[in-house]
Amino acid sequence: MSQVVFDERMVAATRSFSPSSRKPGLVMQDWLQHWPSLNVVAPRMVARKHLAQAHDPEYVDGVLDCSIPNGFGNTDPDVARSLPWTVGAMVTAAVLALRETTTYCAPVSGFHHAYWSRGGGYCTFNGLMVAALHVLKQNLADQVFILDCDFHYGDGTEDILQHVQPGQGPVHRLTRRIHHFTAGEHFGRGASSAEFLGWVGDAMFSIKRHPADMRRKLVLYQAGADQHVDDPLGGLLTTGELQRRDNIVFRYINAYGIPCAWNLAGGYQQEPDGSIPKVLEIHRNTMNESLSA
Ligand SMILES: [Zn+2]
Repeated sequence: MSQVVFDERMVAATRSFSPSSRKPGLVMQDWLQHWPSLNVVAPRMVARKHLAQAHDPEYVDGVLDCSIPNGFGNTDPDVARSLPWTVGAMVTAAVLALRETTTYCAPVSGFHHAYWSRGGGYCTFNGLMVAALHVLKQNLADQVFILDCDFHYGDGTEDILQHVQPGQGPVHRLTRRIHHFTAGEHFGRGASSAEFLGWVGDAMFSIKRHPADMRRKLVLYQAGADQHVDDPLGGLLTTGELQRRDNIVFRYINAYGIPCAWNLAGGYQQEPDGSIPKVLEIHRNTMNESLSA
């Protein structure tokens, strides 16, 4: 059973090839039409010091003060205003999932290409790493598993994991308890969708098999819509195969009672009028699997 962390402060209306800054609002509108009784809770915003767990503090200040470009390559104050809320939604989803041993969705995107000290690829701050470090630091979880099923390699996540290494203080001990599975490392254009789905199953099996208490594990599942075969920046899977991907993940989550926070990530199929019905369909299918798997 998925619940959603959302309010309007997570939305920004910047002009970009990527619809990700306005997507939380569009997705919520679509979901509430399909599931009017969906449980929606408000996010808590993250402070600069929380962002600085995973990022260079100078980068954090520069982006939020609009003196360093965000991941969209601009210094739009509306994007800067929204960022503590989009990352905050992911952190809130992670905390609530662990406290309640359940699944929460943060309908946000734009995390995994954010490096320690720079953004890119429509990603500014790495909400996956901020959330992972936060729940470990707060001793809410013993192990965090980032399952990144976006089409692209989670290079920013990997950079931050590499950055906080020995000599960097206590954070390094935490990163040993963060396990990073990123599909983009293994599967490029033309790869086999069957092998991809096998990889997802293997990842979930290894998460289940990890000896930590199920309720002290956290899966951060990034359900990227650019994994669709028709995506201009993707992808491998048909609509049905994407549903299969989500079904594999949520069947494990639900069967073994593993706390899970999931988010949206990429998806670039856009109509000439700027609407994104195909992307919304993919995200709706993920929510459907989360509710029914
Ligand atoms: Zn992507």
